Amino acid sequence: MTNTENIFNFIDQYAEKTDSLYLEAIIEACNDWIEGSEAPTLTADVSKEEIRRGIQLAVLKGMKQSAQPNHQMTPDSIGLLIGHITSKLVGDKENITLLEPAVGTGNLLFSVMNTMDKNVSASAVEIDELLVRLSAVLAELLEHPVIYLVQDALRPLLIDPVDIAISDLPVGYYPDDDNALNFELMAEEGHAFSHHLFIEQSMNHTKPGGYGIFVIPANLFESEQAAKLHPFLKQKAIIRALIQLPATLFKNVAHEKSILILQKPFLETKPLTDVLLAQVPNMSDKNAMARFLQEIDEWAEKG
Ligand code: SAM
Repeated sequence: MTNTENIFNFIDQYAEKTDSLYLEAIIEACNDWIEGSEAPTLTADVSKEEIRRGIQLAVLKGMKQSAQPNHQMTPDSIGLLIGHITSKLVGDKENITLLEPAVGTGNLLFSVMNTMDKNVSASAVEIDELLVRLSAVLAELLEHPVIYLVQDALRPLLIDPVDIAISDLPVGYYPDDDNALNFELMAEEGHAFSHHLFIEQSMNHTKPGGYGIFVIPANLFESEQAAKLHPFLKQKAIIRALIQLPATLFKNVAHEKSILILQKPFLETKPLTDVLLAQVPNMSDKNAMARFLQEIDEWAEKG
């Protein structure tokens, strides 16, 4: 059996023995593993990706038991692609800081941190306390330095500006109108879109020259509140890329997503840069994927 399978089986068998909710049992099993009282059988060369995948399989099983559509874990295909893009944008720079304002289980964040071989640390925000505990044990097992803030990410964040903000944005209306008034992207009427406010908040906490990499609804620029988004992005950010994800990754058209890459300008006057408009090919087509990644690498080098 592979390390990944052994990790999944260790957690799954642990969960069978307890009365806890499956997701709670994962946290308990991982805590025992960290403390050394019980652990999966692993080869000496076990990789961080094998650990992430093994726990992810258990989380997927746990999510089925207590399914909540807004807590869906970011799929590996998207996490690995964002990991690739992030490492290319970072180049040789060391001590990279990340912000993940909607960290959930941490699957997206750890896919990215595992891909970057530089020193990387992160600040992560999540409103759901169970998901924070789950993500935090995973960070400890993977030995990634992550500081967690358990709060509404759209409230003030006590963090230093970061090099890169990444997030699979929570999509929908943000109910706290009073707080939304602190954002330029507050709607003229009714509730603001939380995914819009998350973009503004993330870019507020990014260093000049830093990036925001967001998984967004594919129709972001055509929605009823897009009229506010266009001038905001024009003034406050440089749109560096819009990458359409394959429709096959999503259950229906309404759930289709894209990746939006923004850069925070250094100065008020913004340099003219190429915007990459691309479409991810069928991910099982290796040749097409290799060509696509090469296009990404060439674009990132020009950055
Ligand atoms: N990337 C995550 C992963 O791999 O598990 C999944 C992110 S999920 C699409 C969005 C997350 O945003 C959910 O975990 C949800 O609880 C969280 N969220 C929604 N509104 C929030 C808010 N106002 N502040 C902080 N977190 C929020």
